[in-house]
Amino acid sequence: MSETKKGEVSFSPEALKEKYRLEREKRLRPDGNTQYIGLSGLYADFDKDPYVEPGFTRPALTETLDVLIVGGGFGGMLAAARLRQAGVNSFRIVEKGGDFGGTWYWNRYPGAACDVESYVYLPLLEETGYMPTEKYAKAPEIFAHCQRIGRHFGLYKAALFQTQVQQMDWDENARRWRVTTQRGDRLSARFVIVAGGVLHKAKLPGIPGIETFQGHSFHTSRWDYAYTGGGPMGGMRRLADKRVGIIGTGATAVQAIPHLGASAQHLYVFQRTPSGVGVRNNQRTDAQWVKTLQPGWQQERIVNFTAVVSGREQEVDLVRDGWTYLFQDTARRQARSPEEAAELRQLDDYRKMEEIRARVAAIVKDPVTAEALKPYYDPLCKRPCFHDEYLETFNRPNVQLVDTGGKGVERITPAGVVVQGKEYPVDCLIYASGFEVSTEYTRRLGFDIRGRGGKSLRDSWAEGAATLHGMHSRGYPNLLIFSTAQSGWAINFVHILNEQSQHAAYIIERCLKRGIETIEPSEQAQQQWWEVILGELKKKGIIFGGPDCTPGYYNNEGVKSAPSAVRLASMGDTLKFAELLRHWRQGDDLAGLEVTRGEAASHP
Ligand code: NDP
Repeated sequence: MSETKKGEVSFSPEALKEKYRLEREKRLRPDGNTQYIGLSGLYADFDKDPYVEPGFTRPALTETLDVLIVGGGFGGMLAAARLRQAGVNSFRIVEKGGDFGGTWYWNRYPGAACDVESYVYLPLLEETGYMPTEKYAKAPEIFAHCQRIGRHFGLYKAALFQTQVQQMDWDENARRWRVTTQRGDRLSARFVIVAGGVLHKAKLPGIPGIETFQGHSFHTSRWDYAYTGGGPMGGMRRLADKRVGIIGTGATAVQAIPHLGASAQHLYVFQRTPSGVGVRNNQRTDAQWVKTLQPGWQQERIVNFTAVVSGREQEVDLVRDGWTYLFQDTARRQARSPEEAAELRQLDDYRKMEEIRARVAAIVKDPVTAEALKPYYDPLCKRPCFHDEYLETFNRPNVQLVDTGGKGVERITPAGVVVQGKEYPVDCLIYASGFEVSTEYTRRLGFDIRGRGGKSLRDSWAEGAATLHGMHSRGYPNLLIFSTAQSGWAINFVHILNEQSQHAAYIIERCLKRGIETIEPSEQAQQQWWEVILGELKKKGIIFGGPDCTPGYYNNEGVKSAPSAVRLASMGDTLKFAELLRHWRQGDDLAGLEVTRGEAASHP
């Protein structure tokens, strides 16, 4: 390939390839995921819920249920809503937070908003009769929608908030799960749905000296408005006399930094790898457009969006935004061989990232800062971001980018942050350092699950998950897991949760109706499913975070690890995943699941 000119940008693919390689190499480090530290032990205070009054108590419960749902985010709420629709009403939802919402309960940082279009991202819009006010709704509106779902489906009466599962054991005699919580509850459930979330276990960077910092600090998912003042819409007046540092420049930081820049006396942005930031172009919802919508419009739009971003040819792109632009793939569809398709795709990726870099140069006035803000990797190596004020913030006189040359912050001292030998004193240090994704599953969940014969899921999945449909696992009867491992992986993750929740509700309703006490996948079904996943991977390749990508949570921080690869392996094409599940349900024979029937001894 030689010099390429297309539209506005021209570039040399060879030069970019080499530049990407060099930038990646700067960032590779052998410690991978272990460079991060969890919010426990010395750092447990970082995990405290700042949104509830301290001191909540309630009597412990002892209950026998058809279903226990772990997690009250979109996954758990969708599961509960679909169960209600299926006529299954004996369930409880155990949720760590003080309300529904999951991600949208915890992430209240200033500027938080959905980055996938609200009309496809917010679930159950038609069912609840709600229309978001903007194309990309802000966090308070999304949190309020979670509460709306809770009210609409009568979920509040089933919820146990500020409650965490401590132990979960399969009782073979009773054929039930025995679950205890930190509040002393003893719950006995025929089925358990674990909807523990994907990006919920916050992590801190393991920077030397982090424990010595004497100023104020917190993680973005536990924003301390008591300290900063203001709220999710900004206006943090108490920062007016504060020097603030933020570590991290991922999707969270991109949304928070414009507000921090507007409020802080001085803001230092400590950057290891710049995000690619495209145009957002948010808009108020058009009332005239809303009037044209016909029943069923939301599912149609959801499917259309996922189809476009899965590279499927569609007559119309309903969402038409930065995401769908990224996945426009006409050239590749016209390719005559897989090799030609890969080459065309790569050229297109270079071109799209050149546009992103040109945008930085056009907006950021200081050329050194602008150069440091340019991302040199393929678009799907890291979560693409879209924002119209982020880059502009670096033109403010009180905002300073401290680029670490790909190496990360060197040290934290009692007074501030050290980069390349220079100390930057700060009063407040904010960690926008993200969440665990490819670490061991039960570690992220916060408790182990003991199935048949007391076998721990942590041990069973030590070398990676073994599942049918990413949902069932042999040795763990009546356990239904919503995760990305060996299920779907989509840009609109709520689309997958919607499919999983309908699937789970169907299975549970069928079992309860037909007197089926236990379901458990056969060894063979698990093996066959793994082969389906591998086949898909072979066909489509790794869509997010391939092995040549700059390190990040999409590729296990650039470290090759078989268990993590198995954990991250999923069907890149959510529509295919959904079609497969639908087809399985149409068979109406619970294929691949071993079943037992009859009334088991009851030990409530
Ligand atoms: P990320 O994991 O994307 O970002 C963490 C940041 O911390 C990275 O910039 C990382 O740098 C940086 N970092 C880590 N260690 C160091 C160090 N030692 N020194 C300096 N910098 C360091 O977390 P986010 O919370 O930003 O986003 C997580 C995910 O949440 C997103 O990818 C997205 O899926 C989701 N999200 C969704 C939103 C939505 O609107 N729906 C909004 C926000 C987030 P490096 O890149 O080099 O690793």
